[in-house]
Amino acid sequence: MQTDSDYLEHISEFSHEQLVLFADQAVGLKGAIAIHDTTLGPALGGCRMWNYSTENDAITDVLRLSRAMTYKNAAAGLALGGGKAIVWGDPSTDKSQEFFRNFGQQVERLNGRYITTEDVGTTEADMRQIAAGTQHIVGLPIDSGGSGDPSPATGWGIFHAIRACANEAFGTDDLSGRRIVIVGLGKVGTYLAEHLHRAGAILFGSDISDDAIKYAQSKFQLTPVELADAMSMECDILAPCALGGGLNETSIPQLKTSIICGAANNQLLKESDGELIQQRSILYGPDYISNAGGVINLSFEIKQSYNREWAFNRTTKIFDTMTEVIDLSKTEGIPTSAAADLYAERILEASN
Ligand code: NAD
Repeated sequence: MQTDSDYLEHISEFSHEQLVLFADQAVGLKGAIAIHDTTLGPALGGCRMWNYSTENDAITDVLRLSRAMTYKNAAAGLALGGGKAIVWGDPSTDKSQEFFRNFGQQVERLNGRYITTEDVGTTEADMRQIAAGTQHIVGLPIDSGGSGDPSPATGWGIFHAIRACANEAFGTDDLSGRRIVIVGLGKVGTYLAEHLHRAGAILFGSDISDDAIKYAQSKFQLTPVELADAMSMECDILAPCALGGGLNETSIPQLKTSIICGAANNQLLKESDGELIQQRSILYGPDYISNAGGVINLSFEIKQSYNREWAFNRTTKIFDTMTEVIDLSKTEGIPTSAAADLYAERILEASN
């Protein structure tokens, strides 16, 4: 195998516990599971299906995302560690029952150290097929005894994270009349749009899918924005809800918003981008604090019968967590992104 990256060096630097590579030519499966940290409990994180350009991109993604899950689960106050899986392929053409059952068997071999669930590129239906290969899975369809798609809970959590950010930046969590741009009107972006519309916000948005835009236009009176203009549009709140890396040296100087708070994982391309945002006096609601609703919801499926009302009530506490992280950033004089890490690290240290 030829690689252009030193994975052992990377794993050592970020203290991952385990990186598992797997492949099965017969079913066209290749992918990886990264377990970052199991101090607080088994590593929970979704299975992403993506047509990566290179193997290096795929492994870098799973290592980055699994570490983020450790911080997210810890900061959310869950007895869960951080892990993630990626399967490499085109979600529209490369899926099959055998493909996902085989992936489930890979998860099963880890004996519960990793619990899988849905992520970008995988669906509830895929979860049912993965469950044929493993018992270590959450987010199964409701008719299979699971909690179903986590996106509604994630959207609900982002809504409360935005409220907390608004409370800090504007002195009120009332979102009526606020101009909010949602970049990425997929599952989470659409649920978020619903809550924001109900709260009286004026919505703008972009997506590479015309259908997604048309739906939000018709349901939530959202005004479409060109993809190229969405990140630099003048607004009160920018909600990145597509893929990560959108906040970087190029995009940050162009931002014309008071708050950034959305669903996408790893929104900052580099850690130092948190400082660039702070220097521009923009309040950033760290991604893994905002988007923890999904994992909070899933945690209500582990070792108990799922109860949607309890899970959603618990998810509203993201308002408190976000407020505590913002307060920590002020007392420590650090960007909110760094404060979120410190907040999670303190929880991890306390349990060691
Ligand atoms: P999704 O695939 O349903 O939605 C993503 C949307 O972004 C799609 O509609 C896609 O067309 C659009 N998109 C892609 N590239 C774009 C671009 N350049 N500009 C504008 N739109 C673009 O995924 P999702 O489940 O809604 O998740 C969105 C983000 O939130 C992801 O980063 C995901 O990792 C993160 N997240 C999701 C959950 C969850 O519960 N689904 C939980 C935590 C974090």
